[in-house]
Amino acid sequence: MFINFASFYSIMVASLHFLGTGTGAGVVGKGLRSSAGIILKLGQNQFHIDPGVGAVIKAAEFGISVRDTTAILLSHCHTHHANDVNAVIEAMSYDGLDKKGVLVANKTALNGTEEYPAIITPYHRSLLERYIAVDRNMQLAINDVEIRTLTARHNEPNSLGFKFIHPELTVVYSGDTVYSPDLVEQYLGCHVLILNVPNKVKDSYNLCLEDVPLILEKVRPRLAVITHFANDLHKADPLYEVREIQRKTGVSCLAAKDGMEIQPTK
Ligand SMILES: [Zn+2]
Ligand SMILES: [Zn+2]
Repeated sequence: MFINFASFYSIMVASLHFLGTGTGAGVVGKGLRSSAGIILKLGQNQFHIDPGVGAVIKAAEFGISVRDTTAILLSHCHTHHANDVNAVIEAMSYDGLDKKGVLVANKTALNGTEEYPAIITPYHRSLLERYIAVDRNMQLAINDVEIRTLTARHNEPNSLGFKFIHPELTVVYSGDTVYSPDLVEQYLGCHVLILNVPNKVKDSYNLCLEDVPLILEKVRPRLAVITHFANDLHKADPLYEVREIQRKTGVSCLAAKDGMEIQPTK
């Protein structure tokens, strides 16, 4: 029997689990999708990106052990990105009996602003091994993964995106942002590009469907995943819309669903 160790190894080192793929009252509020975040596994590391509503419950439902979390990453402090972060910290540290894990959070989450008080309580900070308030365009390392914070422009003043660089795979998560050519420059060189696209039509704070081909034609990742659907795009059938984008750009493109797991390779 022939076993392809190269592809077996690459399957083992990188995976993405989409625990939640919705946003807003019209989708998450009605239980149509959750906003529980994304689990990115790279080598021995397990990252929980944006643990919004349902993060702990959906992780258990989809077979993810929150206890195995290496780091939690928070792009900004809107409900559908940050709501359950304290619950994830408790589950990860087994109610503080096993203090562990790293929290990488935007400045709002840890320091607060006038509009958004800090979301991580002092008690929950004490359950972590380490927490870091990050600004845009910073670089840090967690084990063998380099993490760069990206600029996002959104109606939370310290919003970020993240770029994860590992020998096996580079993954970009846009966070919530508008489209701008200078922001797209930051995504170059990634193999997997995850874009938060809540709406079909343009608004002042988010990506919309017509922005996606502009981004993909410039970045040309191996795979693009569109997620974070609000009411109009959820209703419009993201699967159909994303197929059209794939046809237009020639870039492989998926519409995320709650529970979707992929094992991308370079
Ligand atoms: Zn937001
Ligand atoms: Zn959002």
